[in-house]
Amino acid sequence: MNSSHVARNEEEILDALFDSALVVLDSTPQLDTEQKTRALYFSYNLCTCEECQKECGAHINRKGQIRISKKFFHSTLNQETPSPIGLLELMYTILHQLLHGIFPELNEETIIEKTEQAWKSGMTELAKEKLNLNS
Ligand SMILES: [Zn+2]
Ligand SMILES: [Zn+2]
Repeated sequence: MNSSHVARNEEEILDALFDSALVVLDSTPQLDTEQKTRALYFSYNLCTCEECQKECGAHINRKGQIRISKKFFHSTLNQETPSPIGLLELMYTILHQLLHGIFPELNEETIIEKTEQAWKSGMTELAKEKLNLNS
């Protein structure tokens, strides 16, 4: 297989996942506009640091650069049948890092809670919008 084609494909999938995570974030009523806008300035790429080779799924630094574990990304995409749950897990992981970036002062426990809330409410709002469009 042509490896540059695969690489481009990966990049597109990562772009799509990141955009989707931003849409969920943008849909949650739990954040204000200023907080949501902050997330638009974050960058992202795949990471092969020591932690990401092991258990780490993703991390973000003080500059707002999100690093998504290449290993985690690949193991999700390379499953026999592409798993929607795996893709959602990647989106959830990205959303979690976005919230770390928006609230650098908050601890892990609070960010986990916020991620759950933003995920649920964001998805609910998206579903509502979809229903409204169809009616
Ligand atoms: Zn890393
Ligand atoms: Zn975290």
